[in-house]
Amino acid sequence: MEYYGSQINNLIEQLSSLPGIGSKTAQRLAFHIISMPPEKVETLASSLIQARKNVRYCRECGTLTDQELCPICSDPKREHRTIMVVENSRDLTAYEKTGHYKGVYHVLQGVISPQLGIGPSDIRLKELMVRLRGEVDEVIIATGSSLEGETTAMYLSRLVKPTGIRVTRIASGVPVGGDLEYIDEVTLLRALDGRVEL
Ligand code: ZN
Repeated sequence: MEYYGSQINNLIEQLSSLPGIGSKTAQRLAFHIISMPPEKVETLASSLIQARKNVRYCRECGTLTDQELCPICSDPKREHRTIMVVENSRDLTAYEKTGHYKGVYHVLQGVISPQLGIGPSDIRLKELMVRLRGEVDEVIIATGSSLEGETTAMYLSRLVKPTGIRVTRIASGVPVGGDLEYIDEVTLLRALDGRVEL
């Protein structure tokens, strides 16, 4: 791609470093960006910078937000005694889209994966245990059904059970490893309603 010149090559390289963007898509995006009016490119660039600067993790549940407490954690109408544990903010969004879950969340920001060297201390389990010292009736484990998701669920249930708090797991075989966002809402609701005691 030497004939493009280093500026274009650099842009293509940056874009193709993003997940799901192959070199062909990166090229297409690069040429699109170059043909855009300069002010539009500036708006795009500044929204990237602003989002990165202002978005942080909710101090309670760990989801991405631009406030100290996310809108769910700060909502008094939510049932704060029911905590659903999810792998990431995308999974939280998938459950929120169903509009039926009234409890709050805990975002682990990952799953236990011995293959990738991710242990229990690398995800937000400690933070969850701190929250469980408060008034909590139920912990719903909604990690995916991948090997890592199941491993995490098992570890988590062993951790929570001694506290005497009810532990449930969403119906198995429904969400496939970290891709909850692609599952339709009816299926998600069924998984939630069909949750089993651990
Ligand atoms: Zn929160």
